[in-house]
Amino acid sequence: MGDSVISVSELTRRFGARAALDAVNLSVARGAVHGLVGANGAGKTTLIKHVLGLLVAERGSVRVFGLDPVAEPVAVLSRIGYLSEENDLPVWMTVGELIRYTRALYPGWDDAYAEELRLMFALEPAARIKTLSKGQKARAGLLVALAYRPELLVLDEPSSGLDPIVRRDILAAVIRTIAHEGRTVLFSSHLLDEVEQVADHVTMISHGKVVLSGPLAALKRDAQVVGGREPTLDELFFAHVGIHAASEAET
Ligand code: ATP
Repeated sequence: MGDSVISVSELTRRFGARAALDAVNLSVARGAVHGLVGANGAGKTTLIKHVLGLLVAERGSVRVFGLDPVAEPVAVLSRIGYLSEENDLPVWMTVGELIRYTRALYPGWDDAYAEELRLMFALEPAARIKTLSKGQKARAGLLVALAYRPELLVLDEPSSGLDPIVRRDILAAVIRTIAHEGRTVLFSSHLLDEVEQVADHVTMISHGKVVLSGPLAALKRDAQVVGGREPTLDELFFAHVGIHAASEAET
């Protein structure tokens, strides 16, 4: 595909007998906000780990910025901002130390933007990370993932376990980032209303297989009309993934 930042082709990954990913194709266009949706255990994190080069493709290929993230980790990861579900921050640091430490790793670090995010997220520089709440840790993780203005932002379940206010902050920050020309976001979530609010492209995965992928507006337009209107993402998900997986996804 033309200007794809991420290009995954026929990617298969098994854990024992279980296929976590089964011949998955994913194309994320430059400048897109691409939502990866699926129930718990659908394969979202496994796919993201391949994009980051943390897992080697068993079959198929993964290219990010046209490069193999396993063979060229520095070239790829230096252009990606990443926030994981676990959000593994060095807990012994203060917020200020985390900012200075991360700043030293990335030449593109933007001090003014980092300070803007710190104020927006109400993070005290002297606060030790281990004393922060889960929501505050997520904000700190997001700050350091955004402040070097990466070309690609990858968020794995950014809202997992967070209250609605923190979620709204995260969404606002994502939107702010994408507003900067040409930046791309891939984020996974099982909160379909959240994905619907921010994503312009969606890939649905179920039991390791892609069941639907494309621009959200086109997917809705091409779907069956529900009561004289276009379906919501939730209704699309139900139609393609089924009641069992959808109810799992809402937990
Ligand atoms: P969640 O929303 O719960 O995070 P997910 O869509 O991110 O789910 P994955 O974490 O990618 O799903 O897991 C896909 C499948 O692969 C699951 O059945 C999971 O148990 C399995 N799996 C993932 N990592 C491993 C591993 N290291 N060893 C064994 N099985 C694994």
